[in-house]
Amino acid sequence: MLSGDDLHSQINTVLKKYWGFDSLRPQQEAAIAAGIEGRDSLVVLPTGGGKSLCYQIPPIVARRTDVVVSPLIALMKDQVDGLRQAGYPAAALHSGLDLDSMREVESGMANGRYRLIFAAPERLVAPRFLQWLGRAQIRNFAVDEAHCISQWGHDFRPEYRQLAELKTRLPDVSLHAFTATATMRVRDDIMTQLRLRDPVELIGTFDRPNLLYRVVPRIDVNSQTLDILNRHRNEAAIVYCLSRKDTESLSHSLSQNGIRAAHYHAGLDPEKRRRTQEDFMAERLDVVVATVAFGMGIDRSDVRCVIHTALPKSVEHYQQEAGRAGRDGLAAECVLLYSGADAMRLQSLIERSAAEAQAPAQLIESGIKLLNQMRSYAAGMRCRHAALSEYFGQRYEADKCDACDVCLDEVQGVEDGTVTAQKILSCIARTDQRFGATHIADILAGAKTARIRQWRHDQVTTYGLLGELPRKSILNLIYQLVDQGLIDRSEGDRPTLHLNSHSWDVMRDERKVQMQQPKSTKSVKSSRVETESWEGVDRGLFESLRDLRRDLAGERGVPAYMIFGDSTLRELARQRPLTLDDFARVRGVGEKKLLDLGGGFVAHIKAYCEDNDVPRP
Ligand code: ADP
Repeated sequence: MLSGDDLHSQINTVLKKYWGFDSLRPQQEAAIAAGIEGRDSLVVLPTGGGKSLCYQIPPIVARRTDVVVSPLIALMKDQVDGLRQAGYPAAALHSGLDLDSMREVESGMANGRYRLIFAAPERLVAPRFLQWLGRAQIRNFAVDEAHCISQWGHDFRPEYRQLAELKTRLPDVSLHAFTATATMRVRDDIMTQLRLRDPVELIGTFDRPNLLYRVVPRIDVNSQTLDILNRHRNEAAIVYCLSRKDTESLSHSLSQNGIRAAHYHAGLDPEKRRRTQEDFMAERLDVVVATVAFGMGIDRSDVRCVIHTALPKSVEHYQQEAGRAGRDGLAAECVLLYSGADAMRLQSLIERSAAEAQAPAQLIESGIKLLNQMRSYAAGMRCRHAALSEYFGQRYEADKCDACDVCLDEVQGVEDGTVTAQKILSCIARTDQRFGATHIADILAGAKTARIRQWRHDQVTTYGLLGELPRKSILNLIYQLVDQGLIDRSEGDRPTLHLNSHSWDVMRDERKVQMQQPKSTKSVKSSRVETESWEGVDRGLFESLRDLRRDLAGERGVPAYMIFGDSTLRELARQRPLTLDDFARVRGVGEKKLLDLGGGFVAHIKAYCEDNDVPRP
């Protein structure tokens, strides 16, 4: 048994050798210790929190082979490729391998050549594999994306259920579950299903300080998305849409505006999906416009922006999807384009699909509750970091996060919100509360539609009363009033708007109303993390290092981030090392990468600095 100090120094040696990092993050050391000791554990860390190291380091330190259960072949392949780039012996066993490759992995396993073997859950309990495990004396298993075992999670996979058998079939093994899903219910479910014995529970902080959250009233998806992406030219971004059709039209419109974008959804043929995914990983593509089908398995760590063009179903979904931004720890932006209409649409979708599936009332209720929590987040005006942390049961300590639209004071209220609300409400009153939001918006905008002529609504006093605003803005304002409970909306296929007692309070000037409008791009600020992460960085050099990285990745047939992550490139463009010794000291440079890439990178940096008269830092 190693003493605490010895263990600490061995872990640090391994960390520097393979990854070029100098220290572990909170929780990593305890998780690694549990792995080395073979004590069951449950590790909950946010996306980008560094879970992989927690199962990658123990088998190296303990000089043994461990198995990692992973839900997707793409994820396994990426991890193995990434590890090999760092000189770490790993392999994956999956149905995509041909017979020769399979044999090679098997014999490597028998010879103890690998420290990690990645495998799908269903393979693990197959008799043949169990025999191998016995022969190779494998005793420690990491279960990645462990929430897939729980029906209460956002990504249930029935094949994960088979892992429940592991502890029965191999009673003396240790299991280490990893997930970013924070809810208690899912956590408990994971421990029960996997039959963890007296596990070490390590729960990290869910807040992601490097993410800047914004919620913006949705007026025009295409132009708003383009505006946001223009802040991230040549950077990686994911845009989530509700429907397949929306992904296609939005990606088309972005491409026409010079953005390297493609769409992705489950209805595309697998070949096209694979190509889009690969192009994105290889940096041939900057933006993927997708349904939620795009996500797990996308390990690109330098995603600088995630945009939701519609409301997600729950805060868990939102955190998971938005969390794909900034996994490398550098600043990234997450924008939710919000319209209250989404919540209503989603609610009727939940009700309809539950009725079709004859689901129990309880399920519908819980779906609607989750949706309403998401809606409160979107419509609320609290610090986004605090709201998200508290949703997951953690206190947010700082008064001001300096990384959300609310704390950056960007939110622009509609000037004279009460008067605008009164105009909307009186339009509803004057048309006898018989019409829906679109028609009311048309009247207020002074539109000339057939319906307006048919009902002679161009004669009512509120016609054109908000003519200075585009129709879509008026529509968004109407939904803000619905969200605030100041207008009722009927159910059914053709919902109509109605006044309630609160509406009359507003009309009588007894209640003030605040409404939001999108901020102009000019008023958008940078977070402290963003500003600091660029301090001392030569941007031109950073961009030219990205080009070099892309070329090297192309030659090697691996995703670009596997050469070096963005944080290492920024560090290089900041420190500008001109010798191999200096290069070796940069965070993210391990032994193998120093040998493989050091010479080329140092020469490139030297040439760039000379050509551009960049001084030594
Ligand atoms: P997760 O699986 O929890 O989403 P990863 O394991 O992919 O997160 O790690 C996210 C990023 O953080 C990776 O780029 C990884 O190299 C980096 N990272 C992890 N641990 C450390 C550390 N101790 N020091 C510096 N970077 C780290």
